[in-house]
Amino acid sequence: MVKAVAVVTISDTCFKDHSKDTSGPTLADVVKEMFPEANLHTIIIPDEREIIEKELKYFCDEANVDLVLTTGGTGLSQRDVTPEATKAVIHREVPAIPIALTIESLKKTHMAMLSRAVAGVRDSTLIINFPGSKKAVTELIEVVKPVLSHAISLIKNELTEVRTIHNSMQFSHVCPHHMLTSNVDMSKVAFRPRESPYPMMEMTEAFKIVDEVMKQWTAHMEIVSIEEGVGRVVAQKLLAKEPMPPFAASVKDGYACLSSDGAGVRRVRAALTAGDAPTLPLSRGECARINTGAALPSGADCVVQVEDTKLITASEDGQTELEVEIMVAPQPNQDVRPIGFDIPMGAVLADKGDVLDAGQIGVLAGAGYQNVTVRANPKIALLSTGNELQEPSELKLRPAHIRDSNRTMLRVLLKEHGYDSIDCGIARDEPGALVAALSSALAQADVLVCTGGVSMGERDLLKPVLTKDFGATLHFGRVRMKPGKPTTFATCQFDGKTKFIFALPGNPVSAYVCCHLFVLRALRGGGGGGAAWPRLSARLTAAVTLDPRPEYARATLSIGPDGFQATLIGSQCSSRLLSACGATVLLELPAASAIVKQLPPGTSVSALITGRLDRMTTL
Ligand code: AMP
Ligand code: MG
Repeated sequence: MVKAVAVVTISDTCFKDHSKDTSGPTLADVVKEMFPEANLHTIIIPDEREIIEKELKYFCDEANVDLVLTTGGTGLSQRDVTPEATKAVIHREVPAIPIALTIESLKKTHMAMLSRAVAGVRDSTLIINFPGSKKAVTELIEVVKPVLSHAISLIKNELTEVRTIHNSMQFSHVCPHHMLTSNVDMSKVAFRPRESPYPMMEMTEAFKIVDEVMKQWTAHMEIVSIEEGVGRVVAQKLLAKEPMPPFAASVKDGYACLSSDGAGVRRVRAALTAGDAPTLPLSRGECARINTGAALPSGADCVVQVEDTKLITASEDGQTELEVEIMVAPQPNQDVRPIGFDIPMGAVLADKGDVLDAGQIGVLAGAGYQNVTVRANPKIALLSTGNELQEPSELKLRPAHIRDSNRTMLRVLLKEHGYDSIDCGIARDEPGALVAALSSALAQADVLVCTGGVSMGERDLLKPVLTKDFGATLHFGRVRMKPGKPTTFATCQFDGKTKFIFALPGNPVSAYVCCHLFVLRALRGGGGGGAAWPRLSARLTAAVTLDPRPEYARATLSIGPDGFQATLIGSQCSSRLLSACGATVLLELPAASAIVKQLPPGTSVSALITGRLDRMTTL
C-alpha cells in the first residue's frame, strides 16, 4: 500500500519561474492519479547537492514517504548533481529501474544516453530519478508504474501483499500444474454435439488464413555471433570493410618476377613464404622465391610456378638459390590474385534475407565480422495434452497410459529447422488444468504448439477452453486433409500481445504432418506471412489407394534417369510414426473422385520437400 509520495523537482530555472509552464499534466498530477489515496508532497529545489541530499533525507527519515520521485538534474551539465546526491543517501541501488527507463527513452531520443539517473532504497523508501522534461517524465513514470506498488510492499516487508502478488503471478503465468477456474461446462456430456460445429476448411483456404494471420507477427532483430547465425535470416546488409586478398598474393609455389623480363635466367633476390611482409622491391633480372598465399614484392607482376623453372646456381651448402632459369615467358598477372580479387572492398557479403550457411559465415569470419544481425524467431511453446500421457523418461508405464512422443518429436522437428522451443510439459484433459497450462505457455511464448484434445471426444477440450477462457478466435477448427482433420489454428490476446496457437491432433503422424504444413510454414515466413514448402514432381513406385480427403503421405525419394521416384514409407496410419522415419517428402495425394480411386505405379504426383534432399538415393 503506497501511503505517501514525494515529487521533488530539481531545477535552477524551475526554482525561479516554475509557474510559467502550465501545458500538460505534471509529474505530481500523474502521481495523484496513480495513487489517489496517497499523501502527496511536492517541492521545487535548486540544483544544489547539499539541498537535494537534505530534502531526500527529510522525506525518507522524517516524512516517512514510501516513494520519492525526483525530476531534473540527471544530465551532464556542471549543475546536474541529482544522481550524486541520490547515491549519497540511498543504501541499496536498484539499477534495473534506470535501465528500463533508458531503454524506453532510447526509443524516442539518442539523448537518453546522456542521462545518469539512479534508483535506490533508503531504509523503507524507494527513490527514483527522472529527467527534467515534463513530457519525458510523465511518459517514463508509466514504465515503472507496474512495479511500484509491489516494490514498495517488498521494501516495507508487507508480507501478505507480497504473497498475494506472487500467488497471482504463479497462477496466471508460471505454474502449469495448478487448476484454474474455467468457463467450460463438462457436466452435460450426453448433450455434447455429435457433429463437429466447425466448418470443414479446404487446404488452400487454411494455408491462405495461416499466411494472412501470421502477417500480424512482427519480426524483431537480434545480434548473434556469426557462428550462432547458421540457418538464421540476415536482417541487415553486411559489406566488405577490406578487400580480399588485402595484398597481391601468389597463387602458386614458384618465383615472383617481372613479366617484361620474359624467359631466361634471374637472380634470386629473396625467399617469401606466406605471412612474410616483402621488403625489397624487385628490379629487372631479379626474382623472389614465393609460396602460395605469400604477398608479391613490389616490382613483381607475375608468378612462375616452380615446375616451369630450372636451378642454375646455388650456394655451396645448398641452402640458398642464387640463379634460376624461367623456362616459359610469363604473362602479366600470371598466377597472381590482385588486391580484392576474391572480394572487392565494399562488396555485399550478406544481404537482407540471406539464410546464413557455412560458406557465408566463413566469408564473414574472413572479413573480420564477429556478429551479425538476424531476424529474431518467435518464442515457441510446446504443450502436450492427454490424461493417458506419461513423460517419456518414466521407466514403467502405468495401466492404460502411453509415453508422450509428440513433444520430443516436435521439439526436434522445430530444432531441425532452426527453431528453439520452450517445453511446457503435459496438461491433463481438465478445463482448469488446461487453463493453467495454456496461461503458463502463452505467458512465455508468441507461438503455442499443442497436441491432442481437438477432436470429438468429451475430453477434447482445447477448442472450448481457447474460446471460452481465452476469448480466442478460431480461424479454423477442421481441415479437409488426412491426417490432421481436427487441426485448429487460433489467435488470442494475452498480456496485451497477439498469440498464435496451433492446436494439432494428438496422433503422432497428424502432429508431424500438421507441424510441417502449418507451424513450420508459418515460422518460415518470418513476419511476412507463411512460406510454402518447395515442390517437385515424382513418380509413384507403387499403386496408391486414394482417400476421400487429400492426403499427405510420407515418402522417400530416389533419382534416376527418368527423374524422381517416390516410395511411401509403409502403412500410412496416423498413429504409426514409423511412416515418418527418413521421410524426404510429403506427397500431396489428391482426394479420391468418383472416377479415380487409385493411382497406378508411375503416376506423377506433387511432393513437398520437407526433408533433406541429401537422403535421396540414386537409382
Ligand atoms: P487426441 O488428439 O487427444 O484425441 O489423441 C489422438 C491419439 O493420439 C490418441 O490415441 C492419443 O493417445 C494419441 N496421443 C495424443 N497425444 C499424444 C502424445 N503427446 N504422444 C503420443 N501419442 C499421443
Ligand atoms: Mg486426448
